[in-house]
Amino acid sequence: MNRLYIVVRLKISYFYRKRVIKMFSDNLSHAVLRLCTANNLTYEMASEYCELSSRYFGDIARGRTNISIVTLEKLCNGFSVTPDGLLLPEADSLQIPAAVREVYCFRESAGNFSYPVCPRCHITMEREYQNYCDRCGQRLDWCNYPYIQARVQKG
Ligand SMILES: [Zn+2]
Repeated sequence: MNRLYIVVRLKISYFYRKRVIKMFSDNLSHAVLRLCTANNLTYEMASEYCELSSRYFGDIARGRTNISIVTLEKLCNGFSVTPDGLLLPEADSLQIPAAVREVYCFRESAGNFSYPVCPRCHITMEREYQNYCDRCGQRLDWCNYPYIQARVQKG
């Protein structure tokens, strides 16, 4: 039984790593697009400010590349923002409740366990009906949750 427990934990940590990396790169691409629009900049103009090639800048804006710390610094300087402003989601969007629509199920000898999944960062949450996700700070809406739970119990 100990062994099974370890397997489950590894699985969660694998999801966790994968999702967090995707979350940062999604936030970065959204932030870059938002800053270009807000400052009325084309990719060419913005890439000049950031001292990057316009092609590479386009890849960043489309979320197609993993940037280095040096590139992050160039983007911060070019747009006059802090790393938070590029890597973390916009504060306002966290306040709009997002519906919990997913649960991860784990089958173990001790029984079946299900954990709700945060709709923003897609990480499993320890507790049900919490107001905010512990990891990304997304405000949560649990209206659909009883229906998902019922489906889990059936299947
Ligand atoms: Zn979250």
